[in-house]
Amino acid sequence: MKEIYLDHAATTPVDGRVLEKMLPYFGERFGNPHSPHAFGRRAAAAIDAARDEIASLLGARSSEIYFTSGGTEADNWAVRGSVRASGKKHFVVGATEHHAVLEAAELLKGEGCELSLAPVDEYGAADLAALQGLLHKDTALVAVMAANNEVGTVQPLKEIAAAAHGCGALFFTDAVQAAGALELNVNEIGCDLLSLSSHKFYGPKGAGALYVRAGTPLAKLIAGGQQERGLRGGTLNVPAIVGMAEAFRLACKERQERTSHIRAARDAFVQEILQTIPGVRYNGHPQQRLPGNAHFTFEGVAGDALLAALDLAGVAASGGAACSSGSPEPSHVLLAMGRTEQEARAGVRFTFGKNTSEEEALRAAQIVRNCVLRLRSR
Ligand code: PLP
Repeated sequence: MKEIYLDHAATTPVDGRVLEKMLPYFGERFGNPHSPHAFGRRAAAAIDAARDEIASLLGARSSEIYFTSGGTEADNWAVRGSVRASGKKHFVVGATEHHAVLEAAELLKGEGCELSLAPVDEYGAADLAALQGLLHKDTALVAVMAANNEVGTVQPLKEIAAAAHGCGALFFTDAVQAAGALELNVNEIGCDLLSLSSHKFYGPKGAGALYVRAGTPLAKLIAGGQQERGLRGGTLNVPAIVGMAEAFRLACKERQERTSHIRAARDAFVQEILQTIPGVRYNGHPQQRLPGNAHFTFEGVAGDALLAALDLAGVAASGGAACSSGSPEPSHVLLAMGRTEQEARAGVRFTFGKNTSEEEALRAAQIVRNCVLRLRSR
């Protein structure tokens, strides 16, 4: 039986059209974009074009885009770089943020900064009144992700941006999971910083970008050469950056058809699960969620046991963040949503992609049902 991949939030395969664009930069166009000769200039021209493309798709200026090694570096840079440069001590981070943001926040605490976690409701949506109550004139930054990587809940970004700016704080949004699924325009959102990661939208791994609104003070995170306008040392990964720009262009251009296809497959799966398996809880927001995300807890079934059974049966799913799988810790996202420790260990995430067919979705639902019933009968 063919395997079914339902873990697109962890990573996506590189689109063939993206790979085509990348290949010359491993071969004849191998130059270092920082070299002052023709080989370097050709690579630099590709970097400039990639920067222009990503900027224009976000409604930003090219000079506001910085390349990084991925979402984790972009998140660390946004949080640590902006708070350190602000001269203020306090900052606010959403309770359900990715570990890249939460761990960066912990490091700042070690430097004497004061962190407040902004609570969410039972669906994982930011509690705006509570968030507002945490802000004061010494707040440097508010960091709330565009969409959650575990339960898929989409956050009210414009409202959060307005609240942050109302007290003189910057607003950063981790848009790693939202990119390709939601329209992202930095001016409509009103963010000062925004992070992207290429491998979540059919680009290569190890490439990311940080948008930094012109005039935003930002301390450097990676010291070294004068790359990225002196703010981020290190030779740029030219093939990956070229691939990321092409992948983002295709993701934006094809967004509507991709998301309606993905949503249909996801909805068919969810309906089948809810109709055929008793004792199921569908986690996350019923409407304000990513089109490709389905997240469940199955009563009486441990998440890791179900994932192992699914893996054996050829279905690849996840317990939440790929980087925390294998860890016995309960999900901080489900805990923040008010679930018990036991429930927070039982979550299983299925994430659909542009190549997932409805037939696969329905076959996967059958397999989930068989595995859940078998585990419950033990
Ligand atoms: N932020 C979110 C919301 C994510 O889901 C991820 C990866 O899963 C990251 C950041 C980290 O991105 P990367 O894998 O490029 O380091």
